[in-house]
Amino acid sequence: MQAVVLRAFGEPENLKPEVVPDPTPDRGEVLLRVEACGVCFHDVINRRGNLPRTRVPAILGHEAAGEVVALGEGVDGWAVGDRAATLQRLSCGECSYCQAGRRSLCKRDARFFGEEIPGGYAAYMTAPVAGLGRVPHGLPWEVAATTCCTTGTAVHCVRTRGRVTAGETVLITGATGGVGLQAVQLARHDGARVLAVTSSEEKTSALRAAGAHEVIVAPDLRFAPEVRRRTGGDGAQVAIEIVGSLTFAETLRALAPGGRLVVVGNLKTASVELNPGLVIVKELEILGAYATTFSELEEAFRLVASNTIRPWVSEVLPLSDAARAHDRLEKRRVAGRLVLAPAH
Ligand SMILES: [Zn+2]
Ligand SMILES: [Zn+2]
Repeated sequence: MQAVVLRAFGEPENLKPEVVPDPTPDRGEVLLRVEACGVCFHDVINRRGNLPRTRVPAILGHEAAGEVVALGEGVDGWAVGDRAATLQRLSCGECSYCQAGRRSLCKRDARFFGEEIPGGYAAYMTAPVAGLGRVPHGLPWEVAATTCCTTGTAVHCVRTRGRVTAGETVLITGATGGVGLQAVQLARHDGARVLAVTSSEEKTSALRAAGAHEVIVAPDLRFAPEVRRRTGGDGAQVAIEIVGSLTFAETLRALAPGGRLVVVGNLKTASVELNPGLVIVKELEILGAYATTFSELEEAFRLVASNTIRPWVSEVLPLSDAARAHDRLEKRRVAGRLVLAPAH
């Protein structure tokens, strides 16, 4: 089959189209004919070699969707012809975290597509059914593939972790990315006032189209004074931090007393300095947000299929263009998600 294989960590050019043997599904797995796979900044971090669990050669991609074409042994509830999309990672379904509905904290089976198990930059992939959601009929494949990690992640960080309620002000950094444009729409849909931060003027129209009430252009990433000015001096009650280390300190400064900071992205995989005094005096909450659960994915599909939230696929490229897609994403030339589609 056709696949994009990463044989050495490094530059985008290291993502090379190859012909490799077709995979066969093991016990508890199905074989998917991949119709689309989203390109996420997580893949860029993975390609650079900054995710400790990935071994090369690797097939990246955790945002895959396609049709079930074969079943391994012991697979219940799935049939050939079903439409499926991957969650980012697996979970055991039995441990105390899984039982409590917090599957992204499961340690018994924490395998991530595109890391320990081959991902969706391929014409076919095997997928344990513990990592699959059902795609509603009629949803285009490129939307099906990217809903989990964009809209689903927005559900996880805006609702589950951020507990955003109507009337609150929500600051969103990195707002023009795949997650950002969904978080903007969802927070607005849930009744919040949305302040979106971007580093470039040319991306403001996407943010306005997504429904941001305020768009702050901050090429120098100094946006806290502007956030305070636009919130009557208070600051934001919730911040969705998608950029990570580059904006973390500024986002903390932009929070109102009692504010909640939801950290969901760290593009540079770098550390930050934190003055505990600021957290103490303002009684801030710092909350991590990781991956998407089954119920969040179902909710994300409902939001997208009902046109409540607009999916934001900027372009569908042939699978062999994976390197070009990574290059564009790294140079921040993308609003929304790029998607790769294998030829069948
Ligand atoms: Zn992703
Ligand atoms: Zn578990």
